[in-house]
Amino acid sequence: MTDSFTGGCACGAVRYEIGATPAAMVDCQCRHCQQRSGTGHGSYVTFTSRAAVRLTGQAREWEITGDAGTVKRHGFCPTCGSPVYLTLPAVPDVFIVHAASLDDPGRYQPQVVTYTSSGHAWDRLDPGLPQFEKMPPQAAGSDA
Ligand SMILES: [Zn+2]
Ligand SMILES: [Zn+2]
Repeated sequence: MTDSFTGGCACGAVRYEIGATPAAMVDCQCRHCQQRSGTGHGSYVTFTSRAAVRLTGQAREWEITGDAGTVKRHGFCPTCGSPVYLTLPAVPDVFIVHAASLDDPGRYQPQVVTYTSSGHAWDRLDPGLPQFEKMPPQAAGSDA
């Protein structure tokens, strides 16, 4: 039994509590993640047990289709604008949160870097991590 992962947006209106162990932790340097994060990459904690997620507050959601055709539904706080989570309508069990939305972001331990093909020289990530030019095989949980 691990401690729940808790977190939310900057103003506190949207909150989550997830009583599950992350399936993946990924730094993604694709253009979509850069645009949404405002910096060189997005950092994501992926869970694969939607039933373990308790979400409170009202996020606004919008959708974008990734390279591989996967539809991503992004949830952000309409008051403070913080990106908080994303879901994949085609894979309803997946629930992904932005690493910095965690109450304790120190629990984020990236395992891989994806989309290094669009990474920037100024966005240096841990060189010890496995790196992929695009998505690694079978990385349904990561974002692109
Ligand atoms: Zn907020
Ligand atoms: Zn990405």
